[in-house]
Amino acid sequence: MKFLILSENSNGSWPYLYFRGIGAQELSKRITAAGYSNTVIDWFTYWTEDELKEAVQCWFGDCDDPVIAISTPFSPTDIAYLNRVLAWAKQTWPDLKVIHGGARVYDSAIQNVDVFFLGRSMQVFEDWMRGRDVSKYTALTDPLVLKNLDFDENQDTPVIPTLSEHDFYNKDDILGFEIGVGCKFNCTFCNYELRGAKISRLASSQDLHNFFSQAYNRYGIENFFIADDTPNETDTKLEILLESFEGLNFHPKITGFTRLDILAARPKQIELYKKIQFDSLFFGIESFNEQASKLLRKKSGLYNVYDTLKTLREICPSTFLVGGLIVGLNGDSEISIRNSVLKVLEEDLLDSIQLYPLSINKSQSIFDEGYMSQLDQDPEKFGYKTQTVSTAIVSEQQWVSDWSNLDHATKLADSIANGIKFDVTNLNHMEYAGLRSLGLIDNNVAPAVVDIVRKRAYTKSKNLKLAYVEKKLNFFRSLT
Ligand code: SF4
Repeated sequence: MKFLILSENSNGSWPYLYFRGIGAQELSKRITAAGYSNTVIDWFTYWTEDELKEAVQCWFGDCDDPVIAISTPFSPTDIAYLNRVLAWAKQTWPDLKVIHGGARVYDSAIQNVDVFFLGRSMQVFEDWMRGRDVSKYTALTDPLVLKNLDFDENQDTPVIPTLSEHDFYNKDDILGFEIGVGCKFNCTFCNYELRGAKISRLASSQDLHNFFSQAYNRYGIENFFIADDTPNETDTKLEILLESFEGLNFHPKITGFTRLDILAARPKQIELYKKIQFDSLFFGIESFNEQASKLLRKKSGLYNVYDTLKTLREICPSTFLVGGLIVGLNGDSEISIRNSVLKVLEEDLLDSIQLYPLSINKSQSIFDEGYMSQLDQDPEKFGYKTQTVSTAIVSEQQWVSDWSNLDHATKLADSIANGIKFDVTNLNHMEYAGLRSLGLIDNNVAPAVVDIVRKRAYTKSKNLKLAYVEKKLNFFRSLT
């Protein structure tokens, strides 16, 4: 087999950013380890149809068992952009297999794909690639839809990319990595995969050190994102990260999630955060209200999380701090949310506040095992009345809590966000890291300029992607 990996990760929430998807890089690493030739085409929607066809022709030539692997972690419908290229390739190479990964829900409207891998599926992919029996993963046979029902932490291990010179990295890149897979908690609203997972296999600090060192010394890359859902679920993950810095000739700028209530409850972690000096952090606070956060199985209202934020400010003055709040939760109230936002502003505890109305979803299709949160699965059990109003493959439910409903919470979130738009930004941590790595902002960014910066970033990242397309196309041409 010979593989061509087509990746597009930039058409989700932040089309104006420039960062690499770690799924495609991990796929490439595993295909190489299995002894098959492969290369990645990043940002395929930035290629013209003719450029893509030329690349495919140069790469496959007279190959008799080609595979096109498509990775679209944020916007599966991007595959439609490839429809004509895939139809042409299937005619040109009758034995071509087209496989797809990155989506969590099967969409039967997607054409020209032979095998769908739903959710986290490196272990499933390995079995498929190596011709092993995949019946235990099979959810549908035509097309073949595979999902992991039997996660093995020794097969689907933390991702640390191998950097290939044919991926044309440069100093503007942000690269992702994982220290551990999954999260040991199981918050009621959460749909991250592998929640409640007792996973002991973690990345080694030496591998991580080598990755950072190679990224910086070969390409000048200083910016990274840790893809772990909860890097501070244990102290060990943070210790591994810190250990990996030893002997580096630069300090990696890292963005990632953090559970604020755990940090508040474990003073030892404060010391680790002081040494790591993250570039930016996202806290899924959800609610500062004790009752509401308890119902979610978080403890943001219990420990003195305000004091923890204050301490973080002192020990990590350059770290950009983002807090996410959910509006509409049972046990919460408008006054409680408004007061907590006011306190955060008065004490300058966060650089960005993101407010989301509570979301409860239902899927009419096949989805990966973790895709439905406990709340999605049984809203009544958690005190929410729901009503389905759409037949889309994933539909947002109308819900009613003990003081709000979807429409009310949406309007309230907008109203609070609007009222604070000149006091604090609404940047996500990945957005912040992306805009900063493009040289457009620093941690003193004024809230009023954020929208202008987003527009500038779009132009800059588009030019970077087009420069990449040119180099990669020349690489393909050099093969013939
Ligand atoms: S919200 Fe965070 S801590 Fe809770 S289960 Fe999800 S990933 Fe884990």
